[in-house]
Amino acid sequence: MAARSLTILVTDEVEAEGVALLRATPEFVVDERPTRPWRELLDVIGEYDAIVGRSATQLPAELLRRARKLQVVGRAGVGTDNIDVAEATSLGIAVINAPAGNTVSVAELFFGSLIALVRRLPDAFHSMRAGRWDRSDLLGTELRGRTLGIIGLGRIGGEVATRARAFDMTVLAYDPYVAPERFERMHAARAESLDELLAGADIVTIHTPLNPETRGMIRVRELGLVRDGGIVANLARGGIIVEEDLVAELRRDRLRGAMLDVFEREPLAADHPLRAMPNVVLTPHLGASTAEGQRNVAVDVCAHVRDALLSGVLSSAINVAGGERAGWEDLREGIVLVRRAAAMARALLADRGARAVEHLTLRIGRGLIHGDDVLLSSAAIGIVEAVIEGARLNLVNARSQAEARGIALAVAPLPGEQLYLVRLTVRGEGNELTIAGVAAPGAHPRITRIDRFTVDVMPRRTMIVLTNADVPGVIGRVGTVLGDAGVNIAEYHQSRTSQGGSALAAITVDASIDRDLRTRLLATPDVRSVTVVNFDDEPPAASANDA
Ligand code: NAD
Repeated sequence: MAARSLTILVTDEVEAEGVALLRATPEFVVDERPTRPWRELLDVIGEYDAIVGRSATQLPAELLRRARKLQVVGRAGVGTDNIDVAEATSLGIAVINAPAGNTVSVAELFFGSLIALVRRLPDAFHSMRAGRWDRSDLLGTELRGRTLGIIGLGRIGGEVATRARAFDMTVLAYDPYVAPERFERMHAARAESLDELLAGADIVTIHTPLNPETRGMIRVRELGLVRDGGIVANLARGGIIVEEDLVAELRRDRLRGAMLDVFEREPLAADHPLRAMPNVVLTPHLGASTAEGQRNVAVDVCAHVRDALLSGVLSSAINVAGGERAGWEDLREGIVLVRRAAAMARALLADRGARAVEHLTLRIGRGLIHGDDVLLSSAAIGIVEAVIEGARLNLVNARSQAEARGIALAVAPLPGEQLYLVRLTVRGEGNELTIAGVAAPGAHPRITRIDRFTVDVMPRRTMIVLTNADVPGVIGRVGTVLGDAGVNIAEYHQSRTSQGGSALAAITVDASIDRDLRTRLLATPDVRSVTVVNFDDEPPAASANDA
């Protein structure tokens, strides 16, 4: 839990219900301001722990670098074009958006526009306004029995598919990135290629993101594959259909028409040829513009920003690898365990003279495998936290920080029945060390192996790993040194490989161990090495104070 109050800047008129959710959280101070040019924020940005806005406020690198306390940027909506996400990531600032809240609004607009087109509603409206009664000129067609071709069977594509059934339409979909079961669930036939979809549908609608693969995906050649009398729709992002090619195709009078809510350049130029074309239903990027859509995205993003600030939950952060899959409740103990195991491994290697870590491999039991990316990030924190001074380090940027130091990171599943076992192997300068532990949901994490030794301790705030000769009296002498220094022992687990051979003690204590006390422990007869690891007690979070 946050110990101090956290200050949140809310701007761009984020819908009130979302803001109320932040105001209802006692740990937060909410400062609501109208949209301002980003340069005017330069002097105040350092005060904020989080910013929540829509798309109007720009957050370029120069501004983010001044945001010394900023942990989270929340965007009420999907697009993050106004945020320098790469810079935010390297600074350790989580960027959270709300991609799902307006899904239904877009799907409903699609059918609104489609019916407007096939029943010629814009023409009917204008003719009525003009005092006419043009019944015979305004013949329409039904949707029933037509084939709807959906490109991108994600959230919005899925809602469109579901609603198409209500109109007795046949659904064909093309999405190479989703499993066959989703097509079955949506009652959609699967097109194996974009060409198959374009040629097989009466109405083609795009619901993919705009990315290098989809930019310009529909050009002259693709438009030529659409059936005679076909309809083309884009309510996703401008640039997926090449507008110039669409205008040329529509001028050939072969297609029935088009519906567009998004454009290559927005706002659409007042003299753009599309504005003058018949049979084109144009809307000014209205897909998400409903009261419900705005409310949903505001509430979603504010809830996610709250959870990120208070509990480190980053399931909606677009710059945390695997965050959306993670299942944060189940991972809480695992996040703590791997971070601490990695910090211990680093300290033990350093005490053996291997200061430069070169490689870290994390193996994870089946019960935690959904959190592989997040756990690897947490291990990266443990590895680099001791060597980062003053910089922000958290689940957002730990992997890039580790990789920037030449540390190779890898994660792999751990076969076997131990669902919640994690095993971490760290290599550097010819040394290798393995630490294992168990992180079952809801139970305290335990370290169960250090190097060749089987142990069983909870990795508390301060941990001592001590090796010694396996002879009588060592435990008593170590206990006396700690007791004389006023240090209370929480757990003391002694382990050995064979009688009279080497022994290792994993000791957790309630106070920190300073350099002098470590020297006294090292001077204790039969003690061979003493490694001290002090962990901070913060929960794992996208926290500026986490380093
Ligand atoms: P989503 O991520 O849930 O779904 C996108 C789907 O596209 C995924 O299933 C993905 O596998 C698929 N896909 C990706 N590349 C593909 C390709 N090359 N070919 C075929 N399929 C591909 O996204 P969503 O929430 O459904 O949003 C879809 C689009 O709608 C996005 O571009 C989003 O920005 C846009 N959108 C527009 C408005 C609006 O106001 N008009 C509002 C919200 C969202």
